[in-house]
Amino acid sequence: MAGTGEAEARLNTVVRIIANNMVAEVCSVYLLRGDGVLELFATEGLNPEAVHQTRLRVGEGLIGEIARSARYLNLSDAQAHPAFAYRPETGEEIYHSLLGVPVLRGGRVVAVLAVQNRTQRHYSEEEVEALQTVAMVLAELLVSSQLFRPEDFAQTSDTTAPVRLTGQIFADGLAIGIAVLHEPKIVVDRAIADDTTYEQKRLARSIAQLREAVDAMMSAAQSVFVGESRDILEAYQMFAYDRGWLVRLQEAVASGLTAEAAIKRVQDDTRIRMEAAVDPYIRERLADLDDLANRLYAHLIERDEAKPALPDNAVIVARHMGAAEILDYDRERLRAVVLEEGATTSHVAIIARALQIPLVGNVRDARKSVESGDRIIVDGEQGQIFVRPGEEVLHAFQANLAARAARLARFAALRDQPSETLDGVRIALNVNAGLLIDMDQLQSSGADGVGLYRTEIHFMVRPRMPKIDSQTGFYRAVLNRADGKPVVFRTLDVGGDKALPYLRIESGENPAMGWRAIRLGLDRPALLQSQLRALLRAAEDRDLRIMFPMIAEVSEFVAARAILERELERHRASGAPEPRSLHLGAMVEVPSLAWQLDELLEVVDFLSVGSNDLLQFLFAVDRGNPRVAGRYDRLSPPVIAFFRHLVCKADAAGVPISVCGEMAGSPLEAMALLGLGFRNLSMNAASIGPVKEMVRHVVLTELTSYMSGMNGAQERSIRDCLGDFARRHGVPV
Ligand code: PEP
Ligand code: MG
Repeated sequence: MAGTGEAEARLNTVVRIIANNMVAEVCSVYLLRGDGVLELFATEGLNPEAVHQTRLRVGEGLIGEIARSARYLNLSDAQAHPAFAYRPETGEEIYHSLLGVPVLRGGRVVAVLAVQNRTQRHYSEEEVEALQTVAMVLAELLVSSQLFRPEDFAQTSDTTAPVRLTGQIFADGLAIGIAVLHEPKIVVDRAIADDTTYEQKRLARSIAQLREAVDAMMSAAQSVFVGESRDILEAYQMFAYDRGWLVRLQEAVASGLTAEAAIKRVQDDTRIRMEAAVDPYIRERLADLDDLANRLYAHLIERDEAKPALPDNAVIVARHMGAAEILDYDRERLRAVVLEEGATTSHVAIIARALQIPLVGNVRDARKSVESGDRIIVDGEQGQIFVRPGEEVLHAFQANLAARAARLARFAALRDQPSETLDGVRIALNVNAGLLIDMDQLQSSGADGVGLYRTEIHFMVRPRMPKIDSQTGFYRAVLNRADGKPVVFRTLDVGGDKALPYLRIESGENPAMGWRAIRLGLDRPALLQSQLRALLRAAEDRDLRIMFPMIAEVSEFVAARAILERELERHRASGAPEPRSLHLGAMVEVPSLAWQLDELLEVVDFLSVGSNDLLQFLFAVDRGNPRVAGRYDRLSPPVIAFFRHLVCKADAAGVPISVCGEMAGSPLEAMALLGLGFRNLSMNAASIGPVKEMVRHVVLTELTSYMSGMNGAQERSIRDCLGDFARRHGVPV
């Protein structure tokens, strides 16, 4: 490939050499053109007349499929594959096996390289790797010879017009700033090594430097990060020492590539696997590896790892980011982050929340629509971003930002004010938490305690099942941070769509109704036992509150309680200090419980209504399905009647009852709950201020009698009536 001559002639030589070396009858290169069509450019073995004649769209035929998915295909019987598309001009009907690999450049497919054999041959893993390595070098040839011209693919969309994009909120907040595209690029000028031993030395040296730098970064971060954030960084550090990664790099150099080409080759592999991975945990790990490859490259070319000067109000825009990458940016200048990918539990999201940097993720085409230097608004309250906003949007948003600051200041001033109605009734306001970092907000929001601690998040962000000691340490840290305020720990609610990377759970067709939460806890008691044991140890002589999720009938609660009692016996026998008090509750999330309330109220110490799940089961409506999610209102008469039934029964039995679903965090809904008789609500920390403001403007007797008058309403929802009530009585909702 490094030879001289016309590019096409060299390409013909290349396919001949590959065919010979791989003992294949056919070797062909299909080049992707600017119009999205793959054109046969060179072939050994297929009918030469087909060159420049055979064309396939991306996604069409096996070659198109390889280009579409950016993944190789290794088929001993290619014609049996559903995507096979026959092209008579090629004369390929006599060839049975096919191995095709994408030729990637800058993470994008530029061509497809394929070999074929007459026999039903199975290509070995070594052959797949060899062809991938060749494809990588081929990419350089195609670009350097101008056969492939990246400018043909330059997006045609207008990059000066204002654009609004939407995504998901991973860390809330608002920001106006200047966009900075985060995408360190690995540039491979020379792919083939002159001296492999020398390249091996370069690689080894840069790996040693990388490790040193990662270690230093971690020790600097130790003092800042606790809990999950620190675990994530530790896992990242582990990767820098991962043998598998190292071996793949070394092998790529041993196969004749330069060190930078080897890093690129391994990174391309990682990216392909990342595109294909559906498991968010695996994607996350692959993102870390991708990040490491960039860092390694920086060491290799001895480039200063520091990023170019950041504007002092930078908004970073990226496809994805490794956990550590966000830390490279100067915290003082970083205003927000926009990602094309990600999930609430993704590591970068957890770090962003810890740093209180707004992050909107899953924003499609973010990098296409944004240029570095563009003005950009990140609205982490609505999950939207505005690129190059017009003056009007900008002004509106600046006003928004100021209003938010004023609102936050108002809520902050409420922090130490009692959560009490105008007629003097105390309403307990608690926070929902799931990360150690959330515990900081318990104090800053002025909440009474933690009404729902979702313990599963601790399990979800870890690569392995946390051992009892780790769990104990974690729960102890939660209680320490609560500093005497009550915390209700909910036992693991995993299964369904909350996957644990190390626990295979068949999700079934209907995961929300599947093998999850207490069902899993009772069927696999070891998991529940270890969690309860850790909670008992962590509590020491403090109060301990535990609740079980997704209880559908009283016997499940009784069985779970029996497991706890056995653990308590063991705990006593070990001589460890016993919790000062132990309160056991059930979540009301499954409607069947309404018909066993009397029995349930006899055995529980408290109840907590999980309105998120409860409403989806009450209406038989999947809350994740946008077509139906908004169909029924949370303030519809059946919900109101159901809640009234729950609270009346609990009150009569003298059992405390609270609501901990999303509903409790919205002022209007929370007002309805107060009117029904609820006196204890648990919500995201950000809702404490708005809900407390509502509480402090309500005359409870008036509200209660108004709500009684709503009995038997026939409207679809009582939302409008309640809104009207709030307006008339000056209640801010
Ligand atoms: C609920 O279902 O309302 C609830 C609080 O639990 P989660 O949202 O964790 O399922
Ligand atoms: Mg639930």
